[in-house]
Amino acid sequence: MIRQNMHIHSNYSWDSKMDIDTIAQILVKNNISYGALTDHVELSRESLPDVITKLKARNIDIDRINQQYQGKLTLLKAVEISEPHWYPDQVQKLSQEVELDFIMGSIHSIQKKAESRREREVATHQYYQEILEMIKTDQIDVVGHLDYINRYYKKDYSLYQQVTDVLNAIKEHHMVIEINTSAERRSHLNVFPSLDKICRYKLSQNEIIIGTDAHTPNQLIDNLEQAELITKELGLKPVIYQKRKRINL
Ligand SMILES: [Zn+2]
Ligand SMILES: [Zn+2]
Repeated sequence: MIRQNMHIHSNYSWDSKMDIDTIAQILVKNNISYGALTDHVELSRESLPDVITKLKARNIDIDRINQQYQGKLTLLKAVEISEPHWYPDQVQKLSQEVELDFIMGSIHSIQKKAESRREREVATHQYYQEILEMIKTDQIDVVGHLDYINRYYKKDYSLYQQVTDVLNAIKEHHMVIEINTSAERRSHLNVFPSLDKICRYKLSQNEIIIGTDAHTPNQLIDNLEQAELITKELGLKPVIYQKRKRINL
């Protein structure tokens, strides 16, 4: 399998100190041919002009690395936008102004402290509702760490029908999910989304991306092998993106 890590945060993200040279060295050392920098875009806390300036500088850095490691490593220019459907005009402007290979949309705004069972069910229902709204605005390519709410609760409270609706919407809107390996360090699951949801996804489509949600050098290969095994076993197909177009590997 051609190795990939499609979810990496560099020091262009507020919560990572990893520089792009370090990322490239470690990926090459581990025979990972494709890496995607999915730096955070949080429009609730940063202005769009600042985001654009930052990402343009980052993309120059990526071009430099891609030249240096030609034939060994390709870094993709991506972003992980929090709640993109809350800022449709800004997301559109961003995608026009900055060259991007793909846009990952993620829900990070989650009710994390629900105490009763009922409150946790409501929080989970709201979480999937946000995902559905995000998909319907049609501005993203990849749904990031589906099931992330399991980071905060010890049990999965999702409703079967609501998950079905989300999986159907992903297919209908020509998006893919990522198999995100950070679940192992962050939750009671092995991967995000849970294995049963990956199997249900597989009933209607094959394409996925694999990412570790790396914020530190050791997280660049964190549980990657496990996600690769799941991918192989289920017959899923890892894809990459180039300028918002999906490419089969
Ligand atoms: Zn982060
Ligand atoms: Zn995230």
